[in-house]
Amino acid sequence: MSTIILGIESSCDDTSAAVIKDGYLLSNVVASQAVHEAYGGVVPELASRAHQQNIVPVVHEALKRAGVTKEELSAVAFTRGPGLMGSLLVGVSFAKGFARALGIPMIDVNHLTGHVLAHFIKAEGEENVQPEFPFLCLLVSGGNSQIILVKAYNDMEILGQTIDDAAGEAIDKCSKVMGLGYPGGPRGFERKEECAQVILATGGVSYPATGSTGDGYAFAADLGHTIEPLRPSLTPLLSSHAQMRYLDKVLLRNVRATLYVDNEPVREEFGEIGFSDRGIEGAVALRMSRDAVDALIEEKRVKLVLDLKPALTEEVLHERIAREIAELQPNEFFGELLRKLVPKPLVMPLAQEVDIRANCYVGKITEEQITRLVRTLKGLTFPITDYAPFEYAVVTAGGVRCDEVNPYTMESLKVKGLYFAGEVLDIDANTGGYNLQIAFSTGRLAGSLKK
Ligand SMILES: Cc1cc2nc3c(=O)[nH]c(=O)nc-3n(C[C@H](O)[C@H](O)[C@H](O)COP(=O)(O)OP(=O)(O)OC[C@H]3O[C@@H](n4cnc5c(N)ncnc54)[C@H](O)[C@@H]3O)c2cc1C
Repeated sequence: MSTIILGIESSCDDTSAAVIKDGYLLSNVVASQAVHEAYGGVVPELASRAHQQNIVPVVHEALKRAGVTKEELSAVAFTRGPGLMGSLLVGVSFAKGFARALGIPMIDVNHLTGHVLAHFIKAEGEENVQPEFPFLCLLVSGGNSQIILVKAYNDMEILGQTIDDAAGEAIDKCSKVMGLGYPGGPRGFERKEECAQVILATGGVSYPATGSTGDGYAFAADLGHTIEPLRPSLTPLLSSHAQMRYLDKVLLRNVRATLYVDNEPVREEFGEIGFSDRGIEGAVALRMSRDAVDALIEEKRVKLVLDLKPALTEEVLHERIAREIAELQPNEFFGELLRKLVPKPLVMPLAQEVDIRANCYVGKITEEQITRLVRTLKGLTFPITDYAPFEYAVVTAGGVRCDEVNPYTMESLKVKGLYFAGEVLDIDANTGGYNLQIAFSTGRLAGSLKK
């Protein structure tokens, strides 16, 4: 059985969560805290507050990217110290609560030991050369520089260490004294501009390949704005239906789809449904995902029911199938009958679904089997168990709360001269150009820079 560990790191100003399976890194999510830049160093109290804000979405995202559910975790590891007391407390408390709720072990990790043993983390598709024991490790980490003799995973001897600032802190302090800003290093040398008005139009976090890193949310939060929880929207839906793997690349046109949440119909759509290795997609499924994602987050039961013959009542469809059977020879196959009713790639999965062999003779089909076929064609049901992650979501739901922004000017009601436009705001809409329209309209308003 695999060992899957969720690791949580909150010793300083980065909130991080990673998922490791049998030594291989599956995901690693880091939320950096820009709030400290204004002070030229990490402010412990602000760091703790930012950790509190970040930890839930960071862990959620790490599990999501790893494709791992909470229930699959074997243990939760967390940084015990050294580090900032308040920051550590957030990570430790979260890890304890999470592990206890799941009934799995907790592993406390010494921050510096974690740095040393990071050499043993493996990545899929890489060479993964690992040091052999014993070896010497030069550790240059924030406020600590050490030379460590590493004899085994749990046997290390510190041969020497700094008693004052370590290299990381020295760079930060030099950078600050020289007027190059905080933190030191490449960012310290970036050009800074002062301006009376700024428009934040950094998009969401979906489709990160387009440059959407979610920076805007961190900037807005640091400036005092409330960020409504981020969720993938217009994203493929995942189903536990046994036939899913046989439906890859199937495209169904003119279907009526109904989304059920806890057995109540909540949305009905008509149009195209597609299947791919990402899940159930196509315009209809993507639109449905707006409700489905929220329901799944609330751990409600979600199912998608497809009516493949929306123009026909059950009665009329029954008559039509009886007619088709009469026109076929009795020794022709059930698959031939299905071929007259649905696209070819759907024939085998549908035969499986109605539990009639595709090579069964149509002459042997019973009335009861026809009724079962009619019901399946009118209500092909897919239990929805999950949704595709931000990587595949067309837009991001959630973001900067709209009631903290003047809707006539897009200026922040909290920070004068700060304007917002586009997906960074907590507005998202259906497919059909509405999301682009939101970006254009808010961009136009913000770009007028009206007070
Ligand atoms: C594949 C795909 C298909 C889509 N199809 C449709 C559609 O058909 N109809 C529709 O209405 N909508 C569609 N959308 C959604 C639509 O594209 C977005 O809602 C819209 O582009 C959002 O505009 P925006 O300006 O807010 O953000 P973006 O268009 O995401 O622009 C944000 C920009 O900010 C930059 N940026 C981010 N952080 C920083 C930083 N720290 N410093 C500097 N730059 C930064 C990014 O690189 C990016 O260029 C689609 C999206 C995707 C991904």
